[in-house]
Amino acid sequence: MRVKFVAGNWKMNGTLAANQDLLRKLMPELARIAGVKCAVCVPFPYLAQVQQLLSGSGIAWGAQDISQFDAGAYTGEVSGAMLVDFGCRYTIVGHSERRTLFGETNDIVAQKYAAALKAGVTPILCVGETLQERESGAAESVIAAQLDAVMSRAGVQSLAHAVIAYEPVWAIGTGKTASPDQAQAVHGYIRARIGREDSAIAERLQVLYGGSVKAANAAQLFAMEDIDGGLIGGASLDASDFVAICQAARPGT
Ligand code: PEP
Repeated sequence: MRVKFVAGNWKMNGTLAANQDLLRKLMPELARIAGVKCAVCVPFPYLAQVQQLLSGSGIAWGAQDISQFDAGAYTGEVSGAMLVDFGCRYTIVGHSERRTLFGETNDIVAQKYAAALKAGVTPILCVGETLQERESGAAESVIAAQLDAVMSRAGVQSLAHAVIAYEPVWAIGTGKTASPDQAQAVHGYIRARIGREDSAIAERLQVLYGGSVKAANAAQLFAMEDIDGGLIGGASLDASDFVAICQAARPGT
């Protein structure tokens, strides 16, 4: 039985004051929700603030990206060791905004995935197809290539220490959500693809859904067999929405 996991992706949003307000609202509410793991992935400058506010709260925190390099002359980059210094348990890797806007290839994403594991930070590996790829029937081959890149660099066993987020690019920040059946079909495909390499790893792996998840659609998505929670963008910035989404992940909901 896989425990459900809900992670917020704040993207490039927040201020010291707004973060404090959001986290102070989340902490007592999320503490009341049993059987769900919750985390927030925040911009780098706010890691220290989040570490200070969330330590001991039961809510984990993480980053939205990681350098593929260990240390040195890489201006503007943030290493895995730095994330560990700030208590990060997670980092998002290969979000579609990084793939599309910042040119991250499957190979770079695989390097970042390996860097996170090396530092002891759990990568939340994002995979997903564009609308054009879906409409041309290429969704599965695109996702297979994204998965194969990390498996060939770090091995299928590495997925014992990772989380996958299926995020159809056409559903991110657009208000268009994959239907529960559409999402389940891809989640089932992801698990089967990994299961070809190692069925026990595939069975235990948490596969989250991301793309316009809201309080109103979360429960139906999370009820699907292979959907183990969500990666939440816009709705994670609103305390009552994020709490409602975490509540929708409770066992038996
Ligand atoms: C995301 O950024 O990972 C995401 C899923 O965004 P949204 O929920 O806003 O679609």
